[in-house]
Amino acid sequence: MIDVIVAGGGPTGMMLAGELRLHDVHVLVLEKEAEPARYVRSLGLHVRSIEVMDQRGLLERFLAHGKKYPVGGFFAGITKPSPDRLDTAHGYVLGIPQPTTDRLLAEHAAEVGAEIRRGCELVGLSQDEHGVTVELADGTQLRSRYLVGCDGGRSTVRKLLGVDFPGEPARVETLLGEMELTEDPAALAAIVAEVRKTQLRFGAGPLGDGAYRVVVPAAGVAEDRTVPPTLEEFKQQLRVTAGTDFGVHSPRWLSRFGDATRLAERYRVDRVLLAGDAAHIHPPMGGQGLNLGIQDAFNLGWKLAAEVGGWAPEGLLDSYHTERHPVAADVLDNTRAQGELMSTEPGPRSVRRLLSELMNFEEVNRYLIEKIIAIGVRYDFGGGHELLGRRMRDVELKRGRLYELMHGGRGLLLDQTGRLSVAGWAERVDHVVDVVDDSEELDVPAALLRPDGHVAWVGEDQQELLRQLPRWFGAAAG
Ligand SMILES: Cc1cc2nc3c(=O)[nH]c(=O)nc-3n(C[C@H](O)[C@H](O)[C@H](O)COP(=O)(O)OP(=O)(O)OC[C@H]3O[C@@H](n4cnc5c(N)ncnc54)[C@H](O)[C@@H]3O)c2cc1C
Repeated sequence: MIDVIVAGGGPTGMMLAGELRLHDVHVLVLEKEAEPARYVRSLGLHVRSIEVMDQRGLLERFLAHGKKYPVGGFFAGITKPSPDRLDTAHGYVLGIPQPTTDRLLAEHAAEVGAEIRRGCELVGLSQDEHGVTVELADGTQLRSRYLVGCDGGRSTVRKLLGVDFPGEPARVETLLGEMELTEDPAALAAIVAEVRKTQLRFGAGPLGDGAYRVVVPAAGVAEDRTVPPTLEEFKQQLRVTAGTDFGVHSPRWLSRFGDATRLAERYRVDRVLLAGDAAHIHPPMGGQGLNLGIQDAFNLGWKLAAEVGGWAPEGLLDSYHTERHPVAADVLDNTRAQGELMSTEPGPRSVRRLLSELMNFEEVNRYLIEKIIAIGVRYDFGGGHELLGRRMRDVELKRGRLYELMHGGRGLLLDQTGRLSVAGWAERVDHVVDVVDDSEELDVPAALLRPDGHVAWVGEDQQELLRQLPRWFGAAAG
């Protein structure tokens, strides 16, 4: 029997497959499309996802295909400088088109041994206490111990499970595409700047290869958003919004997206779980959806591997919902707020001006940016040290960087005292006795990190440590 079937080979599914393979879990990814999508939705990775790639030794390949930008202007597009002293070693946004991100994650998943089958659509599922039976469009049946629906916003898995997806339907729709145009570049830039003074859902920017990425409000909300707009529809909406169609022609691809905002009620129903857009959808303000999906997968991977490996402590797999559901709820809320701030109405425009003034206060700017870049996420592990439940930033140790020691996806005890022990858990937790170069970056005697880099314990007392290890890493071996 297959250990885990992942339905959907987008960024969430591929990230999850890679994580599971680090623990030798037999993974099969089913992707309904025969070829990867060409159209560009996400434009980049935010800080926490960049850190995640670093923690798995994947960052170099992303850096080779991306461009670094300052971390500013991401909250409702309000332009402000990056806040000083962000608590990260990677204080930038990595511009990288989604097809490249998808490809790099798929390559990694395949390299570490995930089986990937394209052109395979999941159409049915049933589960019992031992496993899940999955039915494909061609009638094939497969059996696995667990199934994860990473099959996007219209998730078949979520619908078959009957999991509610409460929230708001799309109220507005936006057209997006890549195309060529005949307008003079300087005249185009001037018109774009003028129109954007009142309409923030409009833009046309050069891609550097002769084509432009063009975005414009649609006339209404389409019944079926999987049907792309025509070039004529695009031209018509450009004339309505900007007074000219800029002579657009030769589209590479055209698409439409709405502002529906919904969150799955449950991320787990017994042996079936949901992750990424299958669990939450929201408009693209701030560029958070793909990042959220990658971070869901990073939270889920080691927990599901522990369950498959038979050493998961009670409640570990359920903590995926407990930890990630509130994070998505917070992202949905911030996109709702950003949506209001993008409105052309006078009231919201006044609120936008006021917020823009408030963002001149460093702390307000930092607070809002940290929401988007997701380094402020804190899971509720109970009271205690301020680091508890938060992900730990990368730090320089005497013999290398902390994140370099986390590529295997295991737990890690960073021990600056040299007096602690993880005996009994050595198969699941690495014991690193070393000191941090700069105590301003990290000033604790020892910290226990989960495989996703979140801090499970801080202190120096071996007895306290022994109480925390089983909570995350199961019973001691032997
Ligand atoms: C215009 C736009 C701009 C965006 N910009 C950003 C951005 O800048 N930053 C950001 O972080 N996010 C952005 N997003 C969001 C981002 O694109 C999504 O959040 C992300 O793609 C979600 O990844 P996923 O793997 O969960 O789902 P998807 O990428 O939707 O992948 C799901 C996969 O499942 C497959 N599938 C579906 N059904 C089945 C089935 N039954 N069986 C098998 N396979 C199936 C699909 O073919 C697809 O490959 C943007 C979105 C839009 C629309």
